[in-house]
Amino acid sequence: MTSPVWHPFTQHGLEEPIPLVTSAQGAALHTADGKRIIDAISSWWVTTHSHCHPKIVAAIRAQAEKLDQIIFAGWTHEPAEELARRLVEIAPRPLDHVFYSDSGSTAVEVALKMALGFWANRGEPRHRMIVMQHSYHGDTFGGMSVGERGVFTKAYQPLLFDVTSVPYPAAGAEQETLDALETACKQGDAAAFIVEPLILGSGGMLIYPPHILAAMHAICAKHGVLFIADEVMTGWGRTGTLFACEQADVVPDIMCLSKGLTGGAVPLAVTLASPPIYDAHFSQDRSQQFFHSSSYTANPINCAAALANLDVWRDEPVLERIATLAARQTEGLAGLAKVPGLLNPRQCGTMIAIDLASGDAGYLADVGPKLKAFFLERGLLLRPLGNKVYVMPPYCISEEDLGAVYEAIAEAAGAFGAV
Ligand SMILES: *Cc1c(COP(=O)(O)O)cnc(C)c1O
Repeated sequence: MTSPVWHPFTQHGLEEPIPLVTSAQGAALHTADGKRIIDAISSWWVTTHSHCHPKIVAAIRAQAEKLDQIIFAGWTHEPAEELARRLVEIAPRPLDHVFYSDSGSTAVEVALKMALGFWANRGEPRHRMIVMQHSYHGDTFGGMSVGERGVFTKAYQPLLFDVTSVPYPAAGAEQETLDALETACKQGDAAAFIVEPLILGSGGMLIYPPHILAAMHAICAKHGVLFIADEVMTGWGRTGTLFACEQADVVPDIMCLSKGLTGGAVPLAVTLASPPIYDAHFSQDRSQQFFHSSSYTANPINCAAALANLDVWRDEPVLERIATLAARQTEGLAGLAKVPGLLNPRQCGTMIAIDLASGDAGYLADVGPKLKAFFLERGLLLRPLGNKVYVMPPYCISEEDLGAVYEAIAEAAGAFGAV
């Protein structure tokens, strides 16, 4: 039986099994063949509290019966208004303006266009983006351009725009990053620096400390280069705080949020902007307005889901849950660090990662698909980045389920971790 569905990041020619999921609850998925699968990667980093959180489900249902969709250019609705007000309240201040879109990639596109519009409307056009090595910012052309180049982008390479890349601040080499950033900022043509705060996700769960984030922000501020925080993955508690930037006391000029914005239930994104960015587009001249939109911008149902997510954050002990999960992950990681064949244990808040000591480390490392299949056989959704295994579960995951995850990773080290 062949399906007409063409899946993302999937080589159909390998004919790997594609599980059919019929329902989800808490941290568990249920498949058509009756299996219970532990969702150890939050369904690709989106599910924060749990699958099918009752308050979020109820909000979606109620909104769907009231107002499903409305054009957002020149029109508005209460869920979008209230959500924007509440996001401004909880975000680093002052990020007073909220632009809606549909995914992390579009939030990044919007951020890049806002930065370019800022400089263009001030009459000092600047076009150079500074980026960090190993970064990931999405799969649209702007996102690919500011992200790490590699096998993912090879076919499109000639069409990606030029950027200046600074090295990832590896432990002991942080000064090189700061020096490279200072040099790039001093050139005078840099519009913005875009960065994943505290942890580079798709690049391999690479972690750097808050004081480096603060230092990078200070360098950009000193030279008037806009600072774009891509919190698409790090937002909504993953790093231990609501937003990663909080840990460095950094207020970015522009901040991108998506993934956990609706608790992971439905797609929605926002790009938050500081007053100077908004003011640069504010005039009587229509040619200076912000030229970006998509059909479903600020869809009311999805905004209602995001409002319910904010209610969960307000009414439930989410930060306590996160602290408990982070402590369990610390323990689990300590156990894994002792297992032969596992290297570079690391943690950022609720997320842990560890590398298999198998020779090939690239994303297309042969061990990747083998590991995925190995974990699936054991009832786990884990999707290693090459030889890098990470655990990023919903905050509701039980101690027992977490234990099963660690056990399987240790077992995988025995099966695949040969140096
Ligand atoms: C996932 C991710 C994106 C892209 O988000 P999509 O919703 O998949 O388009 C952008 N930036 C970062 C840091 C991400 O982790």
